Amino acid sequence: MKTELHQYTVAAVTKGFVYNELEAKGLFGLDGDLVIQPEYQRHYIYGDGKKDVAVIESLLKGYPLGLIYFVDTGAQSAPHLEVLDGQQRITSVGRFVTGKFAIERDGREQTFSSLPAEDRDRIMDSDLLVYICSGTEAEIKEWFQTINIAGIPLAPQELRNAIYSGPFVTAAKARFSNSQSALQQKWAAYVNGDPRRQGVLEVALEWVAAPQGLSIDGYMAAHRQDTGIRELQTYFDTVIEWVSSIFTAPPHRTMRGLEWGRLYETYHHRSYRSGDMTEQMTDLLDDPAVNNEKGVYEYLLGGGTDTRLLDVRLFDPATKKEAYKRQTDAAKKKDISNCPLCAVGTNANKSRIYTLKEMEADHVTAWSNRGSTNLANCEMLCQSHNRAKGNR
Ligand SMILES: [Zn+2]
Repeated sequence: MKTELHQYTVAAVTKGFVYNELEAKGLFGLDGDLVIQPEYQRHYIYGDGKKDVAVIESLLKGYPLGLIYFVDTGAQSAPHLEVLDGQQRITSVGRFVTGKFAIERDGREQTFSSLPAEDRDRIMDSDLLVYICSGTEAEIKEWFQTINIAGIPLAPQELRNAIYSGPFVTAAKARFSNSQSALQQKWAAYVNGDPRRQGVLEVALEWVAAPQGLSIDGYMAAHRQDTGIRELQTYFDTVIEWVSSIFTAPPHRTMRGLEWGRLYETYHHRSYRSGDMTEQMTDLLDDPAVNNEKGVYEYLLGGGTDTRLLDVRLFDPATKKEAYKRQTDAAKKKDISNCPLCAVGTNANKSRIYTLKEMEADHVTAWSNRGSTNLANCEMLCQSHNRAKGNR
């Protein structure tokens, strides 16, 4: 790969700057010869009123913006260049000089056109140091991974989009990475992640890839040249529809970010009555004994037996001590074991008095049968009897 150092003014780079508000993309610069956001690049994420403003303030103070990298694509006609690194900085400058945001100067909001002429000139005449690279696609992509350590690091899926760029990524991003899409709001009830940082696409890929025994990388490599995303889209929609048809109440916050793909694969062959499921879900989420609210869904999908998923609150030490004393005093009077199950047995343990450390607390009425976690429902059992009793 070849690299050559060039110097451009801000005025030159932002000439003919086009910004797409809907897709949050800086599109073109250098009077049409530069693609600011090639498809493998992430969306513009500096537009937060801080990082974009900081870029302009740096220019006004005469600080350098740091190295920028363009790729010479070797195209026969314009655009010949693509931004490899520096897209966020260039987009910030381009948006500022085209009046898309204001900065504060001497306590007043100023857009580019309201700045004094010397400030405008200072920005426009600032030099940008640009390395222009040319090489094979593979070389450039590999290098792109290496240099993208400055600024905000790429999210893993942003990096994968760069590595496997092509028609499949383009189609997948159009579906899953458009933050303006009305579907994002529905998906956000179940899926964690920022669509602009490719978080939703990452989840969709993970869901479709896992049942095929593939990693996200493996799936993207296999589908890289596909022009459509039918399987990806259908699978994702199926999972979301499945969840929302079983738990029909407005989605609870704890549903966000669960492994719905895995749950779908494990449980979608079973049938559920959505009314019952929704009611039980509400009860469990209201139950103070349930420590792990996120476990409620798999617990119910699995038939309500595996209470480990709920991390049910156990008896506290004071309650255990109290129950132990009550049982032991009574047992000593009758000369029987303080473990009620040993006491009715036939072996040598029938009159054994266990120490508190040798005993464990058990729900008399099982928690799953709505037994509560208080002294009235607490019984101490010896360890072997308690562990033999499954359902707590
Ligand atoms: Zn026992």
